[in-house]
Amino acid sequence: MPILPHPISMHLPAQFTGPLPPACDVVVIGGGVMGVSAALELAARGQKVVLCEKGRIAGEQSSRNWGWIRQQGRDLAELPVMMESLSLWAKHAKTLPSDLGFVQKGVVYLALTSREMDGFETWAQAARAHGLHSQLLSRSDVAARFGTDKWVGGLETPSDARAEPWRAVPLLADYARAQGVMLREDCAVRCLDVTNGAVTGVFTEHGRIGCNHVIVAGGAWSSLFLRREGIDIPQLSVRSSVGIIPDQRQSYTGNAADDRIGFRARMDGGTSLAPGFSHDFYIGPDAFRHFGLYWPQFIKDYRATRLRAMAPRGFPDAWGTARRWQADEVSPFEAMRILSPAPNTRALSRAARDFTAAFGGGPAQFSHQWAGMIDMMPDVVPVISKAPIAGLTIATGLSGHGFGIGPGFGRVVADLALGREVGHDLTRFRLERFSDGSVIAPGPSL
Ligand SMILES: Cc1cc2nc3c(=O)[nH]c(=O)nc-3n(C[C@H](O)[C@H](O)[C@H](O)COP(=O)(O)OP(=O)(O)OC[C@H]3O[C@@H](n4cnc5c(N)ncnc54)[C@H](O)[C@@H]3O)c2cc1C
Repeated sequence: MPILPHPISMHLPAQFTGPLPPACDVVVIGGGVMGVSAALELAARGQKVVLCEKGRIAGEQSSRNWGWIRQQGRDLAELPVMMESLSLWAKHAKTLPSDLGFVQKGVVYLALTSREMDGFETWAQAARAHGLHSQLLSRSDVAARFGTDKWVGGLETPSDARAEPWRAVPLLADYARAQGVMLREDCAVRCLDVTNGAVTGVFTEHGRIGCNHVIVAGGAWSSLFLRREGIDIPQLSVRSSVGIIPDQRQSYTGNAADDRIGFRARMDGGTSLAPGFSHDFYIGPDAFRHFGLYWPQFIKDYRATRLRAMAPRGFPDAWGTARRWQADEVSPFEAMRILSPAPNTRALSRAARDFTAAFGGGPAQFSHQWAGMIDMMPDVVPVISKAPIAGLTIATGLSGHGFGIGPGFGRVVADLALGREVGHDLTRFRLERFSDGSVIAPGPSL
């Protein structure tokens, strides 16, 4: 049986088309969960919003992820936003006419060693101060849920959830359109129009849109975009691979992972399966520039990171990718409409073997395989921040856990852009932390 690729590709006809207006209140750059959520919230605040997506809505990370909506294991600065985000997901699941695949069936981290259990305990205690009750599981608790005693224990958050990424963000985009957001696919934003230090518009491949507010939610492309505007963020990206096996042999119906495998039941009856939290890191010019900042994270996670010599052509940090271009020149964004790396088939095969060893049922075979480029920050938390250009707001670097928190940060970013009270402490997410001498402390990378 042939193994199928990820279903969102440039073969799909654009769903969001039409002429661009000459002006609007806010332009959102990027049609992933971050951009779509922010646009939806801005429309709810009476703003005229245009969202520009260079390829297809949710064509990159936002449809390629595991679909976990988790509070568990979060950086504590993110936790209050994540708790809000969970309620927004639940609200969207009730409000939208179509099924997002949203279910609250919990998340379990599985431990192979007692040292991992110590880490879980420390995190769970700290999370309690925020009102989140994650529970430690003994070996027999895990065996009761998973039908095997191969793990020494675990950490569980029963209120955690998931949604189906192939469906959820495109459906949110449909809903945003119904709420008045103008979404445009095949519409790369090449650069900003800045006058006297303030945004006055954007130049897209189809012309200029005048506006006083821009939100950059470009996922793995944000640093390339911002650097041309004179703003340097130390963002890099890593490849993470996923597959589907067409059955559900595990008795546990929530989301679970250990060091080697991550898995969850799907609404189509299959199981999403991935090689745990491991990833591939392509070395490019930005990797050299930011090496020092990433060193602590690399040391912490060195077993999960496989180094690769060069990013494929056209990737954001490939050696040949242009760093400078003019508003009337083709930019790297339209040269790569959808960033779709080839999956690491070797890592996926290993995950299939580990999954079979855990749950039996004959060799696990993949029906689909794909990969996504996860945009990372050195401290594993995003940049949610005003920029040094008036009217510009940055919402990027969601570091492998932005699907779950996207609606929450979307609400925050909409209020931040409009100069309203955001209701959360954003100090940890400010842009200046990379330039004001702050110590860069990596958050949890699970
Ligand atoms: C394999 C994998 C598993 C993951 N698992 C989880 C998980 O279980 N739970 C979780 O919470 N998170 C998970 N994540 C992370 C999550 O998917 C991301 O953090 C999140 O989707 C980021 O959303 P985003 O909108 O910031 O970026 P993206 O989804 O990458 O969207 C950015 C969009 O901007 C567009 N764009 C960029 N530049 C321009 C431009 N100049 N003009 C126009 N458009 C532009 C791009 O084409 C892209 O569509 C996972 C990621 C991967 C890859």
